[in-house]
Amino acid sequence: MSKPKIATVWLGGCSGCHMSLLDLDERLVEMAKAATLTASPITDIKEPPEVDVVLVEGAVCNTENLAVLRKVRERAKILVAFGDCACFGNIPTMRNFFALEDVLQRGYVDTESTATGEVPRSAELPELLEKVQPLSYYVKVDANLPGCPPSAEAIWFAITELLAGRKPVAGGSLLRYD
Ligand code: SF4
Repeated sequence: MSKPKIATVWLGGCSGCHMSLLDLDERLVEMAKAATLTASPITDIKEPPEVDVVLVEGAVCNTENLAVLRKVRERAKILVAFGDCACFGNIPTMRNFFALEDVLQRGYVDTESTATGEVPRSAELPELLEKVQPLSYYVKVDANLPGCPPSAEAIWFAITELLAGRKPVAGGSLLRYD
């Protein structure tokens, strides 16, 4: 029997959730024995592959995030919102309190460290969406793995439960916010 396929994706997040994934340490070897990791941010594969389980880090902040999320959703049997940004929006939603043009002006022109700047405008660049949203605003999410970031223990619990065909229901010490 072929091994289940797993992928991880990075949208509008800080990569802290993926850093926590690396904290699995030697359990990464166990994971590689039990499943095939087909894609992750370091593979830089442009088209998301068909997989059994995908862990998606980050909120949906721009048009590229949204296009990737929709493709990932089509091609994954189980989509896991990986971390608080994916589950709830979290820190990236702080910009939702301000008008989009004010955010761009502050980020590219008015910052204290900017001598001369302008807001980049190009068809090549993804556009910011009016509001940052969690994954579930746009697509069906099969499981939430909260935490900022989720601990390696919580990630391992979720992966092993999913590979065993169960929906992970974490509790107690697995849900930490530090
Ligand atoms: S949940 Fe926390 S660690 Fe994960 S991407 Fe968001 S800010 Fe970073």
